[in-house]
Amino acid sequence: MGKLALNGGEKVRTELFPAYRVIGKEEEEAVVGVLRSGILSKYLGCWADDFYGGPQVQQLEKEWAKYFGAKHAISVNSATSALYCAVGAVGIEPGDQIIVSPYTMCASATAPLIYNAVPVFADIEYDYYCLDPEDIERKISDKTKAIIVVDILGQPYDADRINAIAKKYGLYIIEDNAQGPLASYRGKYAGTLGDIGIFSLNYHKHIHCGEGGVLVTDDDVLAERLRLIRNHAEAVVEKKGVTDLNNMFGFNFRMTEIEAAIAREQLKKLEWLVKERRKNVAYLEENLKDLHFLTMPKVREGCEHSYYIHALKYDETKTGVTREKFVEAMQAELMPIELRETEGVKINLGYMQPLYHQPIFQNRIAYGNTEYPFSGNVTYGKGCCPVCERVCAAETIVHELMRPFMTKADLDDVIDAFHKVADHLDELR
Ligand SMILES: *Cc1c(COP(=O)(O)O)cnc(C)c1O
Repeated sequence: MGKLALNGGEKVRTELFPAYRVIGKEEEEAVVGVLRSGILSKYLGCWADDFYGGPQVQQLEKEWAKYFGAKHAISVNSATSALYCAVGAVGIEPGDQIIVSPYTMCASATAPLIYNAVPVFADIEYDYYCLDPEDIERKISDKTKAIIVVDILGQPYDADRINAIAKKYGLYIIEDNAQGPLASYRGKYAGTLGDIGIFSLNYHKHIHCGEGGVLVTDDDVLAERLRLIRNHAEAVVEKKGVTDLNNMFGFNFRMTEIEAAIAREQLKKLEWLVKERRKNVAYLEENLKDLHFLTMPKVREGCEHSYYIHALKYDETKTGVTREKFVEAMQAELMPIELRETEGVKINLGYMQPLYHQPIFQNRIAYGNTEYPFSGNVTYGKGCCPVCERVCAAETIVHELMRPFMTKADLDDVIDAFHKVADHLDELR
């Protein structure tokens, strides 16, 4: 192969990679059906029959609960809203602490602040990027009330050990499964492993409906509190006879009938979409295994991964080339994904910087200019989560070039690019 594209040679790939086109005729017809019905949303924010939403919303919830084997499913307008609902439902009070992950989408760490609770970061597991049970236990205090675990990148959290810790200390587990639909842990679906599970239906997730989220739980009381928080509970509680008024105010997190109709069709496609990801990942891993400076992601024993993102570990000591330079060379060989051209080539340095590096935690400012609700001995300095810092700062390469609709020829271009850069490492040193 000729010179690296980074140094003026020809690219391995000159066409865009195929778009992730999961919206088809089925969704189109479902949306037209809703438009023709004239009911785009049927919710009423008071205690009446329509407090629980219209036919599409209620049907989606029934189907979602059955699909994942949960007693209740509650739809909302995003997974971020779902996180707010969950934190409210478990009865969090000002000054309470919730253990969160530093290696996730920002909302799963900031959700506690909505109810004036304090996020406390625990470190992640080096192999799996999920919360580390041992560090969770170290970070528990007498103010801790819950743990927000994340099935990050599509890998289930260590449910046996973390659930046992939660039981021992009497903590709720909120499972952010936005990235892991159909991932499983000992035969049970991710999202159903804690007290409340959360799914996302935003544009970048495995299945989507524009914007949307779904919560699942087996607990009748939590389910009803989630439904109240979703829909203006302050105006509902009196007539409904609700006596536990804690956190029952303020929100409209309702999904529309159009989104629910799309989500119902998307759910039917989920199994195929996850299977395709697993197949593509297996093909890539088989054909990259000769590159000994790369380590493929480990899957936890007894688990199935659903590959939201494919995360590789890169060993700079074996190549003599920085991870930054290697990724830059890979990006130069490849092309963006159609419909996401503005995001550049979807191979990057690690998924996230440690979230506690964000200004909100560094400056401890959430409400007004006071430190409230940040307090006392909870700190966000360097060394807070050393494994996360190391993984973020030096070791991971993540990419999305394994999504369904990538053909074998598309995957071969990705594989060829890795090998081409590997064969030209001296040009990068
Ligand atoms: C995408 C995502 C969310 C937020 O989902 P939205 O539906 O966009 O609000 C939360 N947590 C994780 C881990 C995510 O990946």
